Amino acid sequence: MSKHTNARATTNSTESHIINPVFVRPGEATEFPKFTIPDGLSLPETAYQIVHDEAMLDGNARLNLATFVSTWMDDEARKLYSETYDKNMIDKDEYPQTAAIEDRCWKIIADLWHVPDVSKSIGTSTIGSSEAAMLGGLALKRHWQGRRKAEGKSIEKPNLVLSTAVQVCWEKFLNYFEVEPRWVPVSEEHPVFDGYELEKYVDENTIGVVAIVGVTYNGLYEPVKEISAKLDAIQESTGLDIKIHVDGASGAMVAPFCQPELEWDFRVPRVVSINTSGHKYGLVFPGLGWIIWRDTEALPDSMVFHCSYLGGDMPTLALNFSRPGAQVLLQYYNFLRLGREGYRQIQQGSIDVATYLSGQIEKLGPFELVSRGDTIPVFAWRLKEDYTDKWNLYDLSDRLRLKGWLVPAYPNAEGLENQTLQRVVVRAGLSHDLATALLRDIESEIAFLDALESPMPREGTGSHFHH
Ligand SMILES: *Cc1c(COP(=O)(O)O)cnc(C)c1O
Repeated sequence: MSKHTNARATTNSTESHIINPVFVRPGEATEFPKFTIPDGLSLPETAYQIVHDEAMLDGNARLNLATFVSTWMDDEARKLYSETYDKNMIDKDEYPQTAAIEDRCWKIIADLWHVPDVSKSIGTSTIGSSEAAMLGGLALKRHWQGRRKAEGKSIEKPNLVLSTAVQVCWEKFLNYFEVEPRWVPVSEEHPVFDGYELEKYVDENTIGVVAIVGVTYNGLYEPVKEISAKLDAIQESTGLDIKIHVDGASGAMVAPFCQPELEWDFRVPRVVSINTSGHKYGLVFPGLGWIIWRDTEALPDSMVFHCSYLGGDMPTLALNFSRPGAQVLLQYYNFLRLGREGYRQIQQGSIDVATYLSGQIEKLGPFELVSRGDTIPVFAWRLKEDYTDKWNLYDLSDRLRLKGWLVPAYPNAEGLENQTLQRVVVRAGLSHDLATALLRDIESEIAFLDALESPMPREGTGSHFHH
């Protein structure tokens, strides 16, 4: 049951294979091959201009309401970035201070997530939540294998229980690390995985359960405590002791500041590891994730590589070798700059804009909210049944794109895949003014679509989803 097909990069044969720089000086090359390396040199200004102009076509990040990833940092952060972009995270010997700051950062995060004893826990930065998820899943698998081997039992058929609404990185994990998925479908009664009928999905080969804090499709939190209570009951009746990994790619950097009373983290004893994306609500530019394990028991030593480091022992674990170190410094900058209160203000500001927007969108008439943006500042809606047969949310998404807005429409997760959702991700920088401008544009596009005399021609639905 694979939910995503593999897209292969192809070059379109009708596309021009030549690039013309707009600003050239006499004597310079006026044509560059697009898919082969040029024969000669060009001036740095020319090369810059070409790449700069092409990158400009990527669209306006401010109007991109599809992505979770930071598109803005303040001037001091940018300055720091430009001073440190050459640091390689893996060169712990060469950049011991960057390594020390990475260490401080994961300990700060472990503390935010209420790890019982930071000195016994272990964590690392990664390139993003995807790498962190691979490591978290692998630790669960290794742990299960170790236990099964000790009991003299088969390690042939590991499985992982997870919602069909997981982000695609979990499908990669299952595929790359050869773990059988036990998909729990979403439904009208259980729009998020909440432990309902969990006993039907687990067995002695279950390496763990994934709980998502901040579901990509709608922003909702899967109730970690309820899922854990269900696993307690399962343990009582079957003896199976199944642990939880929390995918907090977005929510793990919102909940500690805006829903501090919600117990989704290491306060729940069954949670053994948690990942987040530093480049989502950690508010750092792309290229940063984090994973923390409750204690060294949860992270099998077979996954840790011990390198000598300044005469001492530097444990490392990662899929990558070289990777930029600057993002780690930017994370530390944000921690110092913002503190708990700064993060709270920024995330709460985004939640306020999200709940305002969702409330206004609900009032427009055609839509039914799936979520309100009061967990993470992300919400989704669907078209009311029987509202119209003239247009759908893909049409609205296309119309909004003409005005520069990226507001994706996409099918809901398996179980509710016949439902089309449309989603807004509010990030710092989406002001009330901008939100009001979006509302006005949605309103006028609804008026346009409603006034159509016949249904929109049907073609090409379904390719609009950007995680
Ligand atoms: C974004 C996201 C991921 C993947 O994170 P990257 O940092 O982009 O690799 C994983 N899980 C969830 C729930 C996400 O929202």
